[in-house]
Amino acid sequence: MRNVQPEASHYIGGAYVEDAAGDAIDVTYAATGEQVATLHAATPAVVDRALAAAEAARRDWAALPGVERGRVLRRAADLLRERNRELSEIETIDTGKPLQETLVADAASAADALEWFGGIAATVRGEHLQLGADWAYTIREPLGVCVGIGAWNYPTQIAAWKAAPALACGNTMVFKPSEETPLCALKLAEILTEAGAPPGVFNVVQGRGDVGAALVTDPRVAKVSLTGSVPTGRKVYAAAAEGMRHVTMELGGKSPMLVFDDADIDAAVGGAILGNFYSSGQICSNGTRVFVQSGIRDAFLDRLSERLKGVVMGDPLDEAVNFGPLVSEAQLTKVLGHIRDGVAEGATLVTGGNRVDRDGWYVEPTVFADVTDDMSIARQEIFGPVASILTFEDEAEAIARANATSFGLAAGVFTADLARGHRVAAAFEAGTCWINTYNLTPVEIGFGGAKQSGIGRENGLGAIEHFSQLKTVYVGMGGVDAPY
Ligand code: NAD
Repeated sequence: MRNVQPEASHYIGGAYVEDAAGDAIDVTYAATGEQVATLHAATPAVVDRALAAAEAARRDWAALPGVERGRVLRRAADLLRERNRELSEIETIDTGKPLQETLVADAASAADALEWFGGIAATVRGEHLQLGADWAYTIREPLGVCVGIGAWNYPTQIAAWKAAPALACGNTMVFKPSEETPLCALKLAEILTEAGAPPGVFNVVQGRGDVGAALVTDPRVAKVSLTGSVPTGRKVYAAAAEGMRHVTMELGGKSPMLVFDDADIDAAVGGAILGNFYSSGQICSNGTRVFVQSGIRDAFLDRLSERLKGVVMGDPLDEAVNFGPLVSEAQLTKVLGHIRDGVAEGATLVTGGNRVDRDGWYVEPTVFADVTDDMSIARQEIFGPVASILTFEDEAEAIARANATSFGLAAGVFTADLARGHRVAAAFEAGTCWINTYNLTPVEIGFGGAKQSGIGRENGLGAIEHFSQLKTVYVGMGGVDAPY
C-alpha cells in the first residue's frame, strides 16, 4: 500500500508544520483496521500560528484582482486532475471508500469546484444604483479569515467546496479536517501552494472537537463553515453567534425519496441504490426513507434485491470493488445498533443486516421493508448502508409524510408525470431536490439544507454570497441639506 504518512500534521503559511506535543491521531485503513499514519492534534500554539498566518495573508490576497486569484484556483484544479490517481488512492486509504468511486467523485469534484469558482472570481462585483443626481454603489468584499471544519465522508471534496468560493472571494482559510480522515486536506494545501497561492491563504490544522471549538471562537475569525452532524452544528452555530460570525452549516439529513407507480422502476431503483449504498451509505443527502406507492412495492423490492446482487465487496483499492467498509469501528457499532433497532421495532429485513465476516468495518447493504414513520430507522440519520422502504397511497399523503421530519437536507421524486414531479419538488421542505435522479451535486448548483439540516449554501453563485459581504457607498453629488 502507498505510504500515506504526511511530512507533518499541519500545513501553515505554505509549509508543513509539526508539534508532537499534540494528542496522537491515528489513521487506520477501514478495510483492514491497519494503522497507516499517525498525526498530532494541533496544540493552542499551532492553532494560533495558523490563524496568524491566515490573518497576515488576507489583505494582500484580497487586494489581488479576482482574475489573478482565479488563475491560482484554476491551476490547482489542473494539478488535482493530473494527480487524480494518487489523490484517489489517498482518499480511499483515508476513508475506506472504493477506488472505483474516489477516482471519479473526490479529487474530480474538488477540481470542478476550484475551476468553476476560479472562473467566476473575476466577476465578483457590486452594483450601481442611480438616486436622482446622487448615486450609490455596492462593493462585494471578502469577510476575512474563514474557518472550515469537515466531516469524514468526503475529505477532499469538503475542503475544496469550502476553500474554492472562500478564496475566490478574497478570504483566507484555516481548515480542520475530521479527525477520522485527516490526510486529504493536506494534499489540497500542498497543491494550492504549488498553484501559486501565497503562504497563509489556505492552512490546515488537525484535531478533534476541541480544536474546532478553539478556531470557532477566535476573535480573528469572521466566518465558520461546518460540515457535520446536527448536534455539532448547534454547538458551532451558538459559539459563532457569540462573536456575530457568519456561518454556513452543512448538516445531516433523513431525506425522502418518493417513487410513484408510473415511475421508471429501474431508474428509481438506481436512485435508491445511489442514495443508500454509494460510499456505503455515508452521504449526508441520502434518500434513506424510500416511499414507494403501494401498487409497485413488490416489484420495486424485487428489482432492488436483484440489483444488490451486483455488489462487489472487497479491498477498496481493488478497482473491481464497488462496496467498501464504514469509516471506523465506532461507525460500524452505531450502524449495527440501528439495524438491531429496526428488527426489534418490527420492520421486515429484506436483505443484509449483518456485519460482514472479514477484517475491517463492513456492513452488508441492508434493506428494511414495512417500515413505519414512527420507527427509529425512519427518523434517525444512520449514515450507513441501510435503506428503509415505506409505502404510500397518494401524493398528498406522501408529501406530508416526507416533510414530517426536523431534517430538510434533500428530497427526490420519481414519476413519469412531469407536472407532478415539479409539484412535489415545490412542496418538499428540503434544500436540494431531484426529479427522476438522485444525489447529483455538480458545482454549478447550490447545495445545502433547510430546517435543522443547515444554513447557507455551498456551490453555485449562492456560495459567493456566503463568503462575502456587501458594502454600500452613498455618493452625494450636491450640497448637504441640514435642518439647522
Ligand atoms: P461530526 O458532527 O461528529 O463532526 C464534524 C466535524 O466537527 C469534525 O471535524 C469534528 O472534529 C468537528 N467538531 C466536533 N465538535 C466540535 C465543536 N464543538 N466545535 C467545532 N468543531 C467540532 O460529524 P461527522 O461524524 O464527522 O460526519 C457525519 C455527519 O456529517 C453526518 O451527520 C452527515 O450528515 C454530516 N454531513 C453533512 C454534509 C452536508 O453537506 N450537509 C456532508 C457530509 C456530512
